[in-house]
Amino acid sequence: MMCEDYQAPGRIKRRSDLCPAPKAIRHDRLYAHKLLVIGLETLFLLRISVRFRAMNDATPIKTAQPQVLRKVKFDHPDVTADGAPRASVVLNQLETLWINTGTLCNIECAHCYIESSPKNDRLVYFPAADASALFDEIGALGTGTVEIGFTGGEPFMNPEMLVMAEDALARGFEVLVLTNAMQPMQRPRVAKGLLDLKERFGDKLRLRVSLDHYTQALHELERGKGTWAPVVKGLDWLAQHGFHMSVCGRTCWHETEAISRLGYARLFADRCYPIDTTDPSRLVLLPEMDESADVPEITQACWSILSVDPNDMMCATSRMVVKRKGEDRPTVLPCTLLPYDAAFGMGDTLKASFGADGGMFSDGAVKLNHPHCSKFCVLGGGSCSVHAEE
Ligand code: SF4
Repeated sequence: MMCEDYQAPGRIKRRSDLCPAPKAIRHDRLYAHKLLVIGLETLFLLRISVRFRAMNDATPIKTAQPQVLRKVKFDHPDVTADGAPRASVVLNQLETLWINTGTLCNIECAHCYIESSPKNDRLVYFPAADASALFDEIGALGTGTVEIGFTGGEPFMNPEMLVMAEDALARGFEVLVLTNAMQPMQRPRVAKGLLDLKERFGDKLRLRVSLDHYTQALHELERGKGTWAPVVKGLDWLAQHGFHMSVCGRTCWHETEAISRLGYARLFADRCYPIDTTDPSRLVLLPEMDESADVPEITQACWSILSVDPNDMMCATSRMVVKRKGEDRPTVLPCTLLPYDAAFGMGDTLKASFGADGGMFSDGAVKLNHPHCSKFCVLGGGSCSVHAEE
């Protein structure tokens, strides 16, 4: 028997073929009975359907409510998942303006927070003309900015990196470049330009080199095979030419900070790098950033509970500008850590960013509504803007 025997009404009669009664009258009674059953079933289903639709029409909120009330972290800008007021950070003074020079990089690290690679150009090379306009705006607004930081990607991939650095230095800013010190920095044109800037501006020009661990094995575990020798070559060159240099490492290696600093100290002593590894501004150790990790949200009460000062957050003293692919204007962001999230865009000028309101901002203050705010900044104590103690 095929299922089609039960589908078309005209074929119901064929069920009689299966019945054992040969008499026509029995056939007719059975047929009539079947029709009655089908009719009753249809009526029943129709009534259920009408009642179900009526319920939905009358109480649409009841069906949607479980999703609306589901506790989701980092969802609402003003309150955490359990309803507490979310912490925010006010910009005290724009001490450092970070410029993201573009996301292209000569290498691809295993855990790059910004996913830089030789292919990623989501943030395009930042143009020197846009940087110049921002420096003008800093002057016009009188923001008291002392430092221009450049980060990438690899900043020395940007063909206008030296132009921007010179512009900033000539205006009296200190310049800090975060680099992997590999081939892009070591190209003759760039090396010559750096020597020239150092000659003219001295220690106002500073370079911070990423060295994820003081051993080749763990550094290359993060950055890839063959990355140790070029970075050591770059560090050697910076040290030999007397640049103001610092190193940035990671704290993800299951060793104490003291052990870590000791390991770097031995390496630096071996290679004659003039870096005091006890100075957190010369050996910057950053926590890992894992967006998928389950981290607590930061409420207003957390500041006192954790004894953390909101003024120590990077977004209390800095902003970052990026140029997104396909966009004509730069975008100002609260910090270096949230380069892609459109919700954290504060405007296309510094002035606009200072008054950003609504969503993630309140009159220029930043609401800590991102896992990085918790894991990296408040709980991890990480910041790209680490200055020497006064
Ligand atoms: S990630 Fe850190 S610096 Fe950036 S907005 Fe959050 S708390 Fe501020």
